[in-house]
Amino acid sequence: MNLIIGSHVSFTKDKQLLGCVEETLSYGANTFMFYTGAPQNTNRVDINKEKTELALNLMKKNNIDYKNVVVHAPYIINLASGDEEKRNFAIRFLKQEINRCETLGINKLVLHPGSHVGIGIEKGIQNIIDSLNEVLNKQSNVKICLETMSGKGTECCYRFEQIKEIIDNVQNDDRILICLDTCHLNDAGYDLSDFDKVLMDFDKIVGIEKIACIHINDSKNEIGTKKDRHENIGFGYLGFDKLIKIIYNDKLQNIPKILETPYVSPNDESKERLYPPYKFEIEMIRNKKFNKNLIEDIRDYYK
Ligand code: FE
Ligand code: FE
Ligand code: ZN
Repeated sequence: MNLIIGSHVSFTKDKQLLGCVEETLSYGANTFMFYTGAPQNTNRVDINKEKTELALNLMKKNNIDYKNVVVHAPYIINLASGDEEKRNFAIRFLKQEINRCETLGINKLVLHPGSHVGIGIEKGIQNIIDSLNEVLNKQSNVKICLETMSGKGTECCYRFEQIKEIIDNVQNDDRILICLDTCHLNDAGYDLSDFDKVLMDFDKIVGIEKIACIHINDSKNEIGTKKDRHENIGFGYLGFDKLIKIIYNDKLQNIPKILETPYVSPNDESKERLYPPYKFEIEMIRNKKFNKNLIEDIRDYYK
């Protein structure tokens, strides 16, 4: 099967999309995901046309299809918020983010649907619906990919039914797609040891054709714990074999798989996490063989 795999990469002020592609190639990946600035804030630079051109050419040369590339919206914007000012800010930001995606030639934008922060899940979901109707009121090729969440704190959309509710009430629902996240699914209580069953449930409730990308992460926590802490592939509660079965599932052949696993520290004592694990995790996934020395190999390579 044609494996479409990549990871989160950085979009820096100077190199922009070109830096993303170079980093992707250094991991032996054939797709990637990036934030258009820092994930935790909303400061954004103008997109540079020349660098974008160079990046798109480099992608073409290396058979990276722009259709498989994903932008992730910053996780602090909250469409579910009961605070009108915060919600309006999020709506405005998302509209600009859609414009940036257009300029970059990317048409998938992953979004954490939002946290209700105490107003209750029904109101939270209603706010998400109203906000999305506003965000999507202008014609565009960019699709919003709602991510399935772990249910940490007051997060909405940790159940497929909640996602369905949103899709059913958004006018331009063809602009809404879904991003599954294996760590979030596990932490939300879905049993990935029977992934075909989870996929069947998703298909019944939402529709399998809505899946636009999958975040592949192991989890530091047991099923149903609602924690959302990602772990390196094969080193968490999901384990290598379950993740491989998901990655190579027949029904998900042409769906980009994106790693968001934690960086590795230079040694066991250090709290600094400096080394990207992706080159080695991707290699392991391509070989379908678990490398129990993964962490040591990463340290050797980057030190
Ligand atoms: Fe995410
Ligand atoms: Fe994710
Ligand atoms: Zn997560």
